[in-house]
Amino acid sequence: MTETLLDIKGLRKSFGALVATDDVSLTLNPGEIHALIGPNGAGKSTLIKQVAGGLAPDAGQVWFAGRDVTGFNTAARARAGLGRTFQISSLAMEYTVLQNAVLGALGARGTVWRFFRPVMQDAELRGVAEAALERVGLMDHRDKRTAELSHGQRRLLEVAVALTLKPRVFLMDEPMAGLGAGGSKRLTGFLDGLRSEAPILLVEHDMDAVFALADRISVLVYGKVIATGTASEIKANRDVREAYLGQ
Ligand code: ADP
Ligand code: MG
Repeated sequence: MTETLLDIKGLRKSFGALVATDDVSLTLNPGEIHALIGPNGAGKSTLIKQVAGGLAPDAGQVWFAGRDVTGFNTAARARAGLGRTFQISSLAMEYTVLQNAVLGALGARGTVWRFFRPVMQDAELRGVAEAALERVGLMDHRDKRTAELSHGQRRLLEVAVALTLKPRVFLMDEPMAGLGAGGSKRLTGFLDGLRSEAPILLVEHDMDAVFALADRISVLVYGKVIATGTASEIKANRDVREAYLGQ
């Protein structure tokens, strides 16, 4: 039996009278991509924020690698290995691609940078940053200003920054958003290879990507998980078709 890496237990969050996540439980196992789908406003981003630590749940717990991390803030969870990407762009547009990756690697050390130049000359940080850029295929662009990258390349840079943290789990909120068909296909291929390194909890609207990648899919509707299963189980589920797939 494989050991569950991320165990989300009964997370609940209300905003006034609105229950955004209602007793949501999910697991993520080593090597797995678990997709979370559902209509707009279903509570997907709220759930990701509760797992990443940006939003305290009203009830429930997040267990990570056998530890209860519910009381940890975002930075402590990131240090423990919960890697979050894509929610908001964290890239500095005026900095070069390499500078953004180096600052990401510095963040992984947990130190605050005060002097830019020594940071950029730190051989170890540069090594980590360049390895991450190599992984996502951005080494040839390392001296470009980030603002000059295409949307798809910026997404890849966000992934590279996340990689510098060497996360044990990736949390991704709609990584395909705004990418054209080519960009989605490239990112899908990359995520497919990433799962062996760290499993991914993937919130995604692009159903081609979801069906291509997900080992398991959970469907969230009005804050509740109405089904969890493989792609073929989810496609065949009557409740899911009525509530979400619109068939
Ligand atoms: P999804 O990502 O599935 O589209 P969200 O998690 O963003 O859904 O939102 C779920 C519900 O919670 C929505 O009705 C949204 O308007 C509401 N909501 C999200 N964040 C807040 C907030 N900070 N304050 C009040 N309502 C919120
Ligand atoms: Mg959302």
